[in-house]
Formats: sequence, C-alpha cells, structure tokens
Amino acid sequence: MKKKIIAFMITVVCILNLCSCGKGQEKAKASTSDDLLSEGKLIVGTNASFPPFEYIGKDGKPDGFDIALAKAIGKEMKVDVEIQDMEFDSLVASIGSKIDIAIAGMTVTNERQKAVDFSNSYYDAVQCVLIPKDSKIANHDDLKGKKIGSQMGTTGDSLSENIKKEDDTTTISTYDKAIDAVNDLVNGRLDAVILDKNPATVFAKQYETIEVLNGSDFGFQTEHYAIALPKKDEKLAGKVNDALEKIKENGTFDELVKKYIETE
Ligand code: GLN
Repeated sequence: MKKKIIAFMITVVCILNLCSCGKGQEKAKASTSDDLLSEGKLIVGTNASFPPFEYIGKDGKPDGFDIALAKAIGKEMKVDVEIQDMEFDSLVASIGSKIDIAIAGMTVTNERQKAVDFSNSYYDAVQCVLIPKDSKIANHDDLKGKKIGSQMGTTGDSLSENIKKEDDTTTISTYDKAIDAVNDLVNGRLDAVILDKNPATVFAKQYETIEVLNGSDFGFQTEHYAIALPKKDEKLAGKVNDALEKIKENGTFDELVKKYIETE
C-alpha cells in the first residue's frame, strides 16, 4: 500500500513538472528586459473597460489615458508598444508570461507588490460609491447589510469585503467588467457599487437614475495608480521611470490629462 502511494505521488509530481514545462514553452515574449529591449517590443497588458483610462475606441482598438501614456513611454524607450486587452484580474499573474508590463488604472497594493514591482505612481485616485438617486445611502455604516457590486480583483472589491467582515448580512457581487455592476445597479439588483471615481463619473453620465458619492464620506483613502512591472527587473523599471519623468517634464503628460481625463 505504502509503495502504491509513493508511486502515485511520483506520478503526480511528474505530471505537474510536465505541465509547468509546457507553460514555459508557450512564452511568446522576451523573458528579460535585455531581450525585450533588444527585440524592440513591449507588450503592455490592460483591461479596456475602465474609461477614461482604457476603453475600446471607435476604431475597435484600445484607447484612453493609460494607452496613450504607454505609447508615449514606448516612444521614449524607442520600442514598439503592443496592447493586450485581458481581464483585470489576470493582469498581475500574466506579467512575465503573456505580457511584459501592465497599465490599467492599477492601484499599488501590498498584496500586488508580493508578485510584481510598480513604477513611480502617475495618478492619485479614490474609490467612490455609486447609488440610485433615490437611495438613502450616505456613509460607511449605511453600506452594511446592503447588496454591493464591484469589479473582480479590484481595490473596490477589497473594500466591499471589508464591509462584509463588519456585517455578514452584506451581499457582495463581483463582475468582470465594472459596467456590468453599474447595469445591475440601474436595474435595481444592487444597492451600491464601489468603483474608482473617474470611471464611475463616466458611467454615471450614461444613466439618469444614478449618482456618485465621494469616497471620503465612506472613509476611503487615496490610492496611487502605477505601472505593474516584472519583479526585480531594475533595468526595465529604470527605463520606464525615466520615460515617465521625461513625459512629465516635456508637457506630454499634462496634454494627455487634458485630452482624456479633464474632459470625462
Ligand atoms: N484601481 C482599481 C484597482 O487597482 C481598479 C482598476 C481597474 O479596474 N482597472 O484595483
């Protein structure tokens, strides 16, 4: 019996090894910054359903502040930028395999820093609460016991989880896309949606019946958006940060803010 168990365990270990080898071979992109910089291509992951930072433009291609920023960074680094649109929740895990870096209105968090490094922050953001205009929700305690929606794997999702920890009658629904949570709010399936303020403002304009409440009324702290980078790739981090600094110095950054964010 013991021998059989050992044989079974060896088989399992072999199968797992085979699987991980297969995954390694699938890597289509360069594995170090030296490789990718010499190949002249930077594959940038995003989730193009987070306006004004990233969305699908009229031509069917990803557009938005982050996309323009990524292209400007690529130009400074003298590499071509290829945008890969994927689920937000997959971005961090895809760095180093499917994508080189990720730009997606992504907040720097301790949890994410276990898996990736971040560039210098390029934008200060805050979560807010979307509610129907006739709702009585006005502060943190009012959210307890309510049906709250958020986008999966986001900081809004963690804030909803915190409210559920305080009151387990709270119901949490997570969605791949924030707009789907907003639709459920409009349809009356949710009482509130916790979402970053800029996309929330864009979405609220699309519907007469909902409004945005300030995150500060709910005790939400300022968050910092940054570009997610492979862990310990100091050379790439240096190049991205240098490019970011140049773009800020030469006025490109402010132009992009004006074009994409101030007009939202
Ligand atoms: N800023 C939020 C986060 O990093 C949401 C980002 C997004 O949905 N694109 O979790």
